[in-house]
Amino acid sequence: MRKTHQTKPLSKAQSANAQNGKHKVAKVSQEKILQNLREILAYIGDDPNREGLQETPMRILRSWEKIYGGYKQKPQDVLKTFTEGSCEEMVVLKDIEFYSTCEHHLQPFFGTISIGYLPKDRVLGISKLARLVEVYARRLQIQEKLVAEIADSLMQTLQPHGVMVVCKAKHMCISSRGIEKHNAVMVTSAIRGAFKKLEVRSEFLEMIK
Ligand SMILES: [Zn+2]
Repeated sequence: MRKTHQTKPLSKAQSANAQNGKHKVAKVSQEKILQNLREILAYIGDDPNREGLQETPMRILRSWEKIYGGYKQKPQDVLKTFTEGSCEEMVVLKDIEFYSTCEHHLQPFFGTISIGYLPKDRVLGISKLARLVEVYARRLQIQEKLVAEIADSLMQTLQPHGVMVVCKAKHMCISSRGIEKHNAVMVTSAIRGAFKKLEVRSEFLEMIK
């Protein structure tokens, strides 16, 4: 099964949030989090004190540094633009692998993201697009917001003629709970500026096929 969603541009507030990476964060001590995780283990019916689970809260905590590392990064740190070597041809980076976490179930969703933009005066190093994906994927996300945040931060930083982002992903919250087929792929896209024109969009879709 395939679901296709297109995202609207973010509101001003959402988009400012996307740019600054600012979130209301309450500081919680590590000891309290470890205790909470032990309680979760007990709640699901296991014994947090048995040998195999003793170090589990700490392992989970360490894994969060990578999984949620995007909160510590700002898109503007990644998106250094330059005018030299800029062109008017479409720039495409296809099938960037990503791993993210669904904000509704705290379960992984993962797949690929393809990004295209039509430069005006400025371009980016191509590896920067992959780093931008990391900034937004390594947070709690929904797939619709992920593509929108990537597209909007490129529009604001690069000010190109247009941007398009396509994401294809599998959601563990769907397959692990047995709601739908294991191979269901969700497809979302964000279309900005010149990519609203059919011929531009077609060129991009042909390139990422
Ligand atoms: Zn979910």
